[in-house]
Amino acid sequence: MTVRVGIVGCLGRMGQALAREVYGAEGCALAGGTEAAGHAGLGRDLGDAAGLGSLGLAVGADAAALFRAADVVLDFTAPAATVAHAEIAGTLGKALIAGTTGLSAEQEARIKAAAGRAAIVRAANFSLGVNVLLAVTERVAAALDPAYDIEIVEMHHRHKVDAPSGTALALGQAAAKGRGVRLAEVAERGRDGVTGARKTGAIGFAALRGGDVAGEHTVMFAADGERVELTHKAGTRQIFARGAVRAALWVAGKPPGLYSMIDVLGL
Ligand code: NAD
Repeated sequence: MTVRVGIVGCLGRMGQALAREVYGAEGCALAGGTEAAGHAGLGRDLGDAAGLGSLGLAVGADAAALFRAADVVLDFTAPAATVAHAEIAGTLGKALIAGTTGLSAEQEARIKAAAGRAAIVRAANFSLGVNVLLAVTERVAAALDPAYDIEIVEMHHRHKVDAPSGTALALGQAAAKGRGVRLAEVAERGRDGVTGARKTGAIGFAALRGGDVAGEHTVMFAADGERVELTHKAGTRQIFARGAVRAALWVAGKPPGLYSMIDVLGL
């Protein structure tokens, strides 16, 4: 069976990487793509835009029509758009791969509610390596006591709009889970000026921005006399697109529910 895959936000950086990945993957076919109303690229051929040559698929603005034409829709757009798309997925009972980061708790709750009526895979990071890093971080945090200060450092390209990255926050959640604490109670997000000494048990975050860095994350466990560092470096966005397509093939035909990349990869 061929899985028909639609891409919302198909002219974005991830949208284009996704189009190339869906086109080249076995077992799926591009069903079309949309862009935000008023986008200059509306009407353009999706294949031409992604460097694949003409595919006869014009970029549209009607998300519901795309969901109807697809079995699974990939969404790496913007928070409000992803909530609206999740609600369409719920109404039509179509599967959604939701990769957008920077959503508020209220927006995440609306995605969860939509997952009562549609299969949704939600992950802050779709790469295989980062999902392995999440699993390892939880185990290392469980093994090392709070004398090991946990700091999470990330770097991304200059266009990224949210900080710390969704992946850094997911790593923080994994570390907090391993330690048996709640991230919201121990997170230190950004230090400036006279902050006082570091609190024992805090999980700190630092975000660097610059150049065309696709994404780098390090989880540090720093004690007196030694330091453990776990690092993942993404060399290209294509790794996220590859994971998203793997998730799309996995989720096709699954019952409604909120799934993670850990489910997809069976980690
Ligand atoms: P981008 O700005 O290049 O692309 C976003 C696209 O979505 C734009 O083309 C925009 O016009 C479009 N869009 C906005 N609203 C829309 C709507 N209502 N309907 C259709 N299209 C709409 O950004 P990007 O670098 O591709 O990243 C997009 C999102 O994906 C960000 O939140 C980013 O953090 C996230 N991301 C997640 C992962 C992951 O693995 N989960 C990996 C990379 C990026």
